Amino acid sequence: MSIQVFGTPVSRGVAIGRAVLVASSRVDVAHYFVAAERVEQEIGRLRQARDIVSAELTALKRDLPQDAPAELSALLDVHQMLLHDETMTSATRQWIVERHYNAEWALSAQLEVLARQFDEMDDEYLRERKADVEQLAERLLRCLARSKPGHSPSAEPDVMRMRDFGGEDPLVLVANDVAPADMIQFKRSVFTGFVTDVGGRTSHTAIVARSLDIPAVVGAREASRLIRQDDWLVIDGDAGVVIVNPSPIVLEEYRFRQRQSELERARLNRLRHTPAVTLDGQPVELLANIEMPGDSAGALEAGAVGVGLFRSEFLFMNRGGDLPGEDEQFQAYRDAVVSMQGLPVTIRTVDIGADKPLDRMSLQELRHEHALNPALGLRAIRWSLAEPDMFRQQLRAILRASAFGKVRILVPMVAHVGEIRMTLEALERARQQLDDAGCAHGEVEIGAMIEVPAAALMIGRFLDHFDFVSIGTNDLIQYTLAIDRSDDAVSHLFDPWHPAVLRLIADTIAKANARGKGVSVCGEMAGDAAFTDLLLAMGLRSFSMHPARIASIKQRVLRADTRRLAAAVEAVLSAEDPALEAARLFSGGLAH
Ligand code: PEP
Ligand code: MG
Repeated sequence: MSIQVFGTPVSRGVAIGRAVLVASSRVDVAHYFVAAERVEQEIGRLRQARDIVSAELTALKRDLPQDAPAELSALLDVHQMLLHDETMTSATRQWIVERHYNAEWALSAQLEVLARQFDEMDDEYLRERKADVEQLAERLLRCLARSKPGHSPSAEPDVMRMRDFGGEDPLVLVANDVAPADMIQFKRSVFTGFVTDVGGRTSHTAIVARSLDIPAVVGAREASRLIRQDDWLVIDGDAGVVIVNPSPIVLEEYRFRQRQSELERARLNRLRHTPAVTLDGQPVELLANIEMPGDSAGALEAGAVGVGLFRSEFLFMNRGGDLPGEDEQFQAYRDAVVSMQGLPVTIRTVDIGADKPLDRMSLQELRHEHALNPALGLRAIRWSLAEPDMFRQQLRAILRASAFGKVRILVPMVAHVGEIRMTLEALERARQQLDDAGCAHGEVEIGAMIEVPAAALMIGRFLDHFDFVSIGTNDLIQYTLAIDRSDDAVSHLFDPWHPAVLRLIADTIAKANARGKGVSVCGEMAGDAAFTDLLLAMGLRSFSMHPARIASIKQRVLRADTRRLAAAVEAVLSAEDPALEAARLFSGGLAH
């Protein structure tokens, strides 16, 4: 039967494929694909885990005290029997052989299948056996965790290739939640779309998903419970709908739409190397947001004229507390700088915290086990200033990379003048240390992200100290409207068109322009074509976005006439419904 699940659209287009469920287990399970030549080894890990668990169960039964209840012994027999049952062993092996899942993923995928079968049983006794299967799977997963191959999630995943075995159906990832660091791993995978139960439009998981440029829906609540392994799914990334097992006629309609958007994409791609200049001759800088040095190739390919935001925190995640040292960071930054071939690279100092913890953690875990309001806690520059050694290492690494090309440093979430002073002092000390050590470094500009209302309101003071500013609209909206950007329960209130938000943005742009300082927008609004005319009208000439968005935004820029647009700003800002007013003024006649 076909059903529909609704959520928040985060990435446009249509994806059609089979569901791959990444189940949330009580044991932290890594999900990755193993290369064809490592399939046997992975099956060996599974076999070894089964033998160990079998021996454990035998020993447990042997050591049962004399007076232990008889049920206990019977239960261990049931576990032993389940362990060797075909549905557990061969079926799990099949996931590894056919899908190239790692052993842990294969086991949790099979567990999901079995759990559903148990749920559907009429017999209560049998239904309750589900708990036994779960306990057994946990035992196996713990055992597998001890035999982890040398796979580091933040390293280049050599194992994410499923293209090795062609002819497979396209795959769509379905999960309760995917941590941003895990999402990074999926960059080189073959998923054609993804769906999560939780998350908002600008949660970091959604942002990384958008950078993959595949259709995605987040905050789809019950999706991972309603969708089963291998179900056929249509993801409508424009409407935020997931259609499970669509009828042939619906499928045909979506296949048509998919072909249309591929044609549109090919058409836009032709603009790749056209300079972004408005009708009245105003050059506009279209920059890329990247998460890893390797993303710079995609940025150039998309026609970016530099990197406007390198989210360096992704180098710090999922390393089990072992942070990257100065040399490792230097190499990463230098790689990004060198591959941008002389174009500027803006490296944001680490923005750890809120929904980007150092270690893999779901949003729920974050909320319940950590600070109640992580977004208001020790994040971004606050964390860096609280870890002066780490901060100075990062600054030195960036400064050293600046000997290889044009580098700018961007500081996230600054709100206090005291933070500005401490940051500039740390930078000066890092420079001094490099000079003392005779280490080469270049000139860098230093900029602040304007993403806290306090910073936008005090923009004049910020401009006294910084060479440029970059408006982080994702956080600016979150903090201005008091809406947790990663909470799907309030995602309908996350409103980039709110007049308070627009005023802060307009004011920041105007004041920076008046002082002759660089100003850019690097939040998601920069890559949303609905805002291009308005931002141009406010005087913005630098936009930083996912490389995949550059062509669409360029198309808007090429059609805009800033002389006519500027007159409309005040009308939009003072309208009761700015979105409606902008649609009337900009797409109506003013802009085009
Ligand atoms: C922002 O807040 O708009 C931004 C660009 O930074 P991030 O999304 O990484 O918090
Ligand atoms: Mg931010």
